Amino acid sequence: MVYLKTDEEVELLREANLLVGRVLAEIAKIIRPGVTTKQLDILAETFIRDNGAEPTFKGFPNPYGEPFPASICTSVNNQVVHGIPNDEPLKEGDIVSVDCGTLLNGFCGDSCYTFAVGEVSDDVRRLLDTTKEALYKGIEQAVVGHRLGDISYSIQTHCEKNGYGVVREFVGHGIGHEMHEPPQVPNYGKRGNGMLLKNGLCIAIEPMITMGTKDIYLQSDCWGVVTRDNKPAAHFEHSVCVRKGKADILSSFEEIEKILGDKSF
Ligand code: MG
Ligand code: MG
Repeated sequence: MVYLKTDEEVELLREANLLVGRVLAEIAKIIRPGVTTKQLDILAETFIRDNGAEPTFKGFPNPYGEPFPASICTSVNNQVVHGIPNDEPLKEGDIVSVDCGTLLNGFCGDSCYTFAVGEVSDDVRRLLDTTKEALYKGIEQAVVGHRLGDISYSIQTHCEKNGYGVVREFVGHGIGHEMHEPPQVPNYGKRGNGMLLKNGLCIAIEPMITMGTKDIYLQSDCWGVVTRDNKPAAHFEHSVCVRKGKADILSSFEEIEKILGDKSF
């Protein structure tokens, strides 16, 4: 069942989500060629715990019941989502999406930013720009009176008209006491379809967009999701509340983009 949040609950959700933004800003400070995703994970876990929260991703089970071993997902280049941090140094021209979740005062934060490592090619930059634009086009639709399908449709059409693939197997979701609550928020769909949006609805909107085919496969670690054609993928995510009729973004890229400057998308 979809559970609509009160104003008090929305403010608690906002605190958990702003903390995710601060974690990602810490990552923005150190991400460069030579840094490993494991180092990013240690930084994130320490920062989350130092701020009185729990990393929700750590121990989260996959469909096989295996716990996720880290506090962030770091998905590099052809990885779409759920990459496990490792000891391989990032290289100039890589992209890495860092997805982070917190549990603070009983509420969950969930947000993701795709970072460029050093200079990236124009093709890759365009993929990241388009994916972030799609996120905000989806958010624009998260207003009272619209339907879930309006969000999905606007994300899908923006990405497909730019020639990109829209991943079907993974979707956005409701967020609250649990990281994944109903409803599902697909990045593809039909205008005017699906649940009517009401005040108090809190959802994570998260386009996962590929440069080539939308087809993916699961890596042998049963976590990492990779594009079938090995082309790069991007992922941006905000947690959003429909509030006073409009979309109220609970997470924030502001600190991240202040640090990244002209390296932001
Ligand atoms: Mg996420
Ligand atoms: Mg999410």
